[in-house]
Amino acid sequence: MATIIDGKAISERLRETIAADVVALAERGMTPGLAVVLVGDDPASRTYVTMKEKACQKAGIYSQEHKLAETTSEAELLALIDRLNRDERIDGILVQLPLPKQIDTSRVIETIDPHKDVDGFHPYNFGRLAAGNPLFQPCTPYGIMKLLDETGVDLTGKEVVVVGRSNIVGKPVALMCLARHATVTICHSRTRELAKRVAQADVVIAAVGKAEMIKGYWIKEGAVVIDVGINRTEGKKLVGDVDFEAALCRASAITPVPGGVGPMTITMLLANTVESRKRRLQP
Ligand code: NDP
Repeated sequence: MATIIDGKAISERLRETIAADVVALAERGMTPGLAVVLVGDDPASRTYVTMKEKACQKAGIYSQEHKLAETTSEAELLALIDRLNRDERIDGILVQLPLPKQIDTSRVIETIDPHKDVDGFHPYNFGRLAAGNPLFQPCTPYGIMKLLDETGVDLTGKEVVVVGRSNIVGKPVALMCLARHATVTICHSRTRELAKRVAQADVVIAAVGKAEMIKGYWIKEGAVVIDVGINRTEGKKLVGDVDFEAALCRASAITPVPGGVGPMTITMLLANTVESRKRRLQP
């Protein structure tokens, strides 16, 4: 039976350390600050923004919430980002995605000062990650690496199979595993013989968004399974991309959904914001 990787407990521990860091910075008058920008009123985005806001408050991080109307023009949003880039109180800027269709998402991301890009989505940060010299690492993949570290997984020489190639999860996590000397295979919707590839993995990272599509019997005995997927079944149950119950009998360690990768994303956002503030202290 696999060990269950408790993302909630790991995340709580990390948040305590982050809060202690914030206290130390605040004592020097250098409280870290995060600006969260929400355009429109997508219910899921609103929930995420509220969660981020609450997490900041709990950690003692100064936060600004900018809620803009669905009809906001690209020029208005870019003007706000420009102000936040120059705001001394702000160390991190997060624009909640997706954006309404009149706004060019790439243009918005590229307008954020890369030194305040705590989401790690700016091409400068993506490039630095690819070059093996990261500044800000995207929060979900960064959280996955922390979970692996906390579980004592050494990736050197391991076969890692990442299922999914999105810019926010699949690609960056693959680069991070490569930087840790793993041999990495990235799979996607056109990959042939997915089951066979997964079966060769010492570590499987699933970031697809399809309920339980990775079957338990695909998993190699003793493999580590990180399930990033968040899916709702017809019965409204929250499940991952991996058939958890079946994989549990084969894996050596596995993340549950919920309570695995999910809690880590906001934790790493807080960590990046604090890191950003600390960098400004350096000459
Ligand atoms: P995307 O939809 O951007 O990417 C999904 C990827 O899965 C694509 O690369 C796609 O391939 C691939 N894919 C789709 N179908 C298959 C298939 N049948 N076989 C193999 N690969 C397939 O999703 P995200 O990366 O944004 O998110 C993935 C999941 O992770 C979602 O459930 C999301 O909710 C969750 N998530 C969770 C977070 C957390 O905090 N825990 C944060 C971010 C995401 P192709 O490129 O060919 O289309």
